[in-house]
Amino acid sequence: MSAAAVSPRDMVSSGLCIGCGGCVAQARPGQARLEWNKDGHLNPVGDRDWYRRPSEGLSACCPFSPRAMDEDEIARRRFPAAAAQDDHIGRFDAAYVGHAAEAGYRERGSSGGMVSWVAGELLRRGMVDGVAHVTRADPATEGRLFRYRIARDLPALWEGAQSRYYPVDMAEVLREIREVPGRYAIVGIPCFIKAVHLACAADPLLRARIVFTLGLVCGHMKSRHMVASFARQMGLRPASVRQIDYRVKDAARPANWYRARLADHAGEQRMQDWWHLVDGDWGAGFFQNRACDFCDDVVAETADIAFGDAWVEPYSSDGRGTNVVVVRSSALHAMLREGIDAGRLALQPVAAGFVRETQAAGFRQRREGLAYRLCWRKAGVRPRKRVRPGSAGLPWRRRMIYRLRHAISRGSGRVFRLAEAVGRPGLFLLWARAMLKLYHGLAYSRGWLGRVLDRFA
Ligand SMILES: Cc1cc2nc3c(=O)[nH]c(=O)nc-3n(C[C@H](O)[C@H](O)[C@H](O)COP(=O)(O)OP(=O)(O)OC[C@H]3O[C@@H](n4cnc5c(N)ncnc54)[C@H](O)[C@@H]3O)c2cc1C
Repeated sequence: MSAAAVSPRDMVSSGLCIGCGGCVAQARPGQARLEWNKDGHLNPVGDRDWYRRPSEGLSACCPFSPRAMDEDEIARRRFPAAAAQDDHIGRFDAAYVGHAAEAGYRERGSSGGMVSWVAGELLRRGMVDGVAHVTRADPATEGRLFRYRIARDLPALWEGAQSRYYPVDMAEVLREIREVPGRYAIVGIPCFIKAVHLACAADPLLRARIVFTLGLVCGHMKSRHMVASFARQMGLRPASVRQIDYRVKDAARPANWYRARLADHAGEQRMQDWWHLVDGDWGAGFFQNRACDFCDDVVAETADIAFGDAWVEPYSSDGRGTNVVVVRSSALHAMLREGIDAGRLALQPVAAGFVRETQAAGFRQRREGLAYRLCWRKAGVRPRKRVRPGSAGLPWRRRMIYRLRHAISRGSGRVFRLAEAVGRPGLFLLWARAMLKLYHGLAYSRGWLGRVLDRFA
């Protein structure tokens, strides 16, 4: 590996820090911590020497470091006997579509409830003593709405069900796993699971204790400012928000019509469809973490099992929620088979092509889009990706979409901050509305504008 060693500062200033906390978990107690940056994401801060000095340790454990093992290398070591390999899904044994049939899981889950079912089953069978996952925090005392925590029983696990599109970090739970003997599973988005495996590669204690990794398919991570923006648009003061449900489940509506529910400290609740919020079109990239522009793993290729939403019909219209599941561990595959045989899971086998189709937009952004973005990258740490830089044959319309999405994700944090600082939150809404209009024109126009764009761009 030819890249130079990196420091936390190098990764942060290059926009390649996802805020997972892997580096902070390695630091001496009191030496480093995570703090909110201006864009509403978490970044490490610490004493000068730790923060600024390039180190081999950090270079090997940061998921975006060019010196760290990539997903292919980690998966090759972890799943040498995988039954299949796919250039989008990675190594895997089998893939399924469906949901948890056992009562309580699908209703509570954001999608088909499969993450909580598998995590619960690991606890129930005594295969793990705890599951590190994300649950509500108390913003009044903790300064955040969600955090990682270790659930040691089913009620605690259920409290954590649902997707949180909100920055969280694993520093504390990784420390707890080191301190408290036991076997653990950990739930996380792809780069977090990669960080866990990198940490395990460097630390035999973690390697012995983290026995299962449960990955979440990921489009990108959002900033905490998105909650504040949603609050403003729903008539609540951002500082008063105590809870957010990103996806309120309603069996009578299509699963992909996301509806957010916010509650303030007085118990006042507001609900709104994401589609009616200026920054609620996921594909436009509002409030995205900068590092997500340099990720090439959609389906948590290093996790023992990965879960996403089945974003194809008829499943996207089924408001009860349906998962796609990619299994890589033989022990977890056996568990799924037993669940199916016992009628506790309603899963059907699917091919890799089906999984790809459910995440078509995510794969475009992380393959074609990433190749294009890598061509513009001139300054800072150069990410080492499995995708080669290149834009040959990429139509102008697609180039413009990637440029605009990048501008929206970079601009939303800045414009939001500026609008709040001058006491004119409406400025952000004006900007976001204009950006959204432009994005919709580029991405979805099918009429005369679409024909012009297709012909000339
Ligand atoms: C940032 C983010 C982006 C995503 N993007 C996509 C996407 O593009 N396409 C897609 O198909 N699916 C995506 N997902 C996954 C999807 O939202 C569901 O989490 C997944 O389908 C599992 O649903 P479930 O009903 O089985 O899980 P549930 O039974 O609801 O359980 C979810 C589990 O995940 C944990 N969790 C929630 N948020 C986080 C988090 N931020 N980090 C770590 N653990 C967490 C919870 O604590 C809980 O244990 C994303 C998830 C996140 C967090």
